[in-house]
Amino acid sequence: MTNLYKRYGPVEILKDINLEIKSGEFVVFVGPSGCGKSTLLRCISGLETISAGTLEIDGRVVNDVAPSKRGIAMVFQSYALYPHMNVFDNMAYSLKLQNLPKEEIRKKVEAAAEKLQLTPYLQRLPKALSGGQRQRVAIGRAIVRDPRVFLFDEPLSNLDAALRVQMRMEIAQLKDQLPNTTMIYVTHDQVEAMTMADRIVVLKDGVVQQVGTPMELYEHPQSLFVAGFIGSPKMNFLSGKYAEKFKAHTVGVRSEHIDIAPKDGVWSGKVVYSENLGADSYIYVDIGTEEPIVVRQAGKSTYRSGDQLSFSPRGELYHRFDASGRPRLH
Ligand code: ADP
Ligand code: MG
Repeated sequence: MTNLYKRYGPVEILKDINLEIKSGEFVVFVGPSGCGKSTLLRCISGLETISAGTLEIDGRVVNDVAPSKRGIAMVFQSYALYPHMNVFDNMAYSLKLQNLPKEEIRKKVEAAAEKLQLTPYLQRLPKALSGGQRQRVAIGRAIVRDPRVFLFDEPLSNLDAALRVQMRMEIAQLKDQLPNTTMIYVTHDQVEAMTMADRIVVLKDGVVQQVGTPMELYEHPQSLFVAGFIGSPKMNFLSGKYAEKFKAHTVGVRSEHIDIAPKDGVWSGKVVYSENLGADSYIYVDIGTEEPIVVRQAGKSTYRSGDQLSFSPRGELYHRFDASGRPRLH
């Protein structure tokens, strides 16, 4: 897509989006709620018209091509299945509308069910399925249509945490089973983006902030926004006198890139709180900045509230930003 804009009346929702997605690629659009992710996906699907720019699929301009003629299938967050139809009929529905021969429909549905481990459930009604199985049926409905491009809009956000992790793996496996299908996946969850994407597109206020592989974004964020958005816990930011030593307006350092020093670290302060997560611990340290600095320690925390703690970034594993929030190079 080139110079793509979307306006609702006078309000610009998407601003000058330029993006090339390769065939077979798994791209994730990520950004805070309201930044325009769903709108961009709907523009690609044709459910929304674009206000300006060019949208091409497979080298063909599709600005004015009807949604059904774009070779695209979409899976939504709310995957309304037909409650009175069994799994087979739910998946076969769109193919029946196309008047395909019965035998061909059966083959396509069975092949999709096989890919999604739904074969034992084909005769069941949706109410007799778990949340994850229902979500797989929704994906199956899209797969049977053999789309060239698969669009997902936050398909996992209605599932509980454990199921989300499982479905994340299943969608990643689906990607391997359909290597020629391009997939565009929208989420506000940066962990989903990091774990599933070949490339991530970070959006904010309808503007693309950065495009790159998960590790490129993690290691080389090109703005304070991306630095703070990608990674968990959030990157620590230190400004003013706390950043002086680094000749930067703001220095950012991730909790996992901090070494605790016996006493003469770059920064020091009082532990306000420590969280034990099992494999590691997060220690919150008040050094005088607006928010406490989060330091990660492997295993159980050996520090308690009130303890004095001194620490430094590990080696060169910190990020320098100028006053405009861009990386400082010199
Ligand atoms: P996201 O999916 O990233 O949460 P959306 O794409 O749904 O964001 O929405 C982006 C912005 O566009 C929001 O401010 C929303 O209010 C606005 N918006 C979405 N759809 C419409 C519409 N049909 N009319 C007017 N404004 C809309
Ligand atoms: Mg949305």
